[in-house]
Amino acid sequence: MVSSAALNRLELGLAARRADQLERRRSVLDSAQGAHIRVDGQAVISFCSNDYLGLAADPVLVAAAHRALDDCGLGAGAAHLITGHHRYHHDFETAFAHFVGKPAALLFSTGYLANLGVVSALVKRHSEIFADRLNHASLVDAAQLSGATLTRYRHLDLAQLESQLAKSRASDKLIVSDLVFSMDGDCAPVDALLDLAERYDAWLHLDDAHGFGVLNDGRGGLTPRARASDRVIYLATLGKAAGVAGAAVAAHPVVIDWLVNTARPYVYTTASPPVLAASLIESLRQIEVGSARRARLAAHVTRLRAGLSDLQGGHLLPSSTPIQPWVVGENADAVRLSRALLARGLLVPAIRTPTVPAGTARLRITLSAAHSDADVMHLIEALHELA
Ligand SMILES: *Cc1c(COP(=O)(O)O)cnc(C)c1O
Repeated sequence: MVSSAALNRLELGLAARRADQLERRRSVLDSAQGAHIRVDGQAVISFCSNDYLGLAADPVLVAAAHRALDDCGLGAGAAHLITGHHRYHHDFETAFAHFVGKPAALLFSTGYLANLGVVSALVKRHSEIFADRLNHASLVDAAQLSGATLTRYRHLDLAQLESQLAKSRASDKLIVSDLVFSMDGDCAPVDALLDLAERYDAWLHLDDAHGFGVLNDGRGGLTPRARASDRVIYLATLGKAAGVAGAAVAAHPVVIDWLVNTARPYVYTTASPPVLAASLIESLRQIEVGSARRARLAAHVTRLRAGLSDLQGGHLLPSSTPIQPWVVGENADAVRLSRALLARGLLVPAIRTPTVPAGTARLRITLSAAHSDADVMHLIEALHELA
């Protein structure tokens, strides 16, 4: 039995979060993912999914899943190293590596697990990890799991990173960075990071959760040099623009073999259902031929930025990606604005501390090729009316 004192501590903790406008709750979705969805019984236009290309409910992907289901059933039944590694998983890895221009790839069940797996397999207790302060939470947790020293540098401050690298006495060094930052929408300078990785003999792990499918004809944010470098490990999550689930890591074949052998979040978990991998193979094809989707998405970004350029009461961060944060400052202001938009049928989440630094609470507007021009205009007009 849990003592009432222990439960009481949790209740007090929840009450404190509520008082600080930090309480989290879930909305229930009663439709497929898309631009027009049904949430908590209300029809809304969604500006909060990461389904940037509108693939999550695309009929072509759904049909591929139906076909695969008849062929492979549902559950994977075992971990990849036992009997869970299906032909679909295997073929997807080959296709993914080829598409992003790396020699080998490995499919994980989620991006969170992939980051835990890569980081904890590459470095150990006496190693040092250098991380951008705005990296995704999974990279912070990954550093903790690895037991290595975690040294964080100010967002995109490569001068600070260099001085930290120069001071380090660790034999194994790993630089980790979001490639597109998930709450700000800006991009890491890939070649400059690679320069430092080369100069200080470090690995470079790039998490492209938000760039894969969108940047460089869908191939993601790697530069030609990063593609060719053996020290670069590339991660794409597959539940965002790819519209399905999972994450793929692409790297030198020796790195991939090392992960298969030692990445505990890979080894000790049941393989994801093979039907997902089959759907991902189709998703890769759709991304490859998706230039019309990417053009529509880019036009929405331009439209939104132009439409909000003269609006008071907040500011858009400088982002050219589908993540367009409207920064208002205080948690309560962001929550109030988000609620007012919802009352008008527009779903835009308020992102608060501790997810983002104090004083930079924001609406995280995400755009998708699934939006129509009218959807985006609707959001622009509503924000003007509420300003
Ligand atoms: C979403 C995200 C992840 C986690 O990926 P999941 O597949 O959702 O677990 C990792 N890194 C970044 C930058 C992300 O945005």
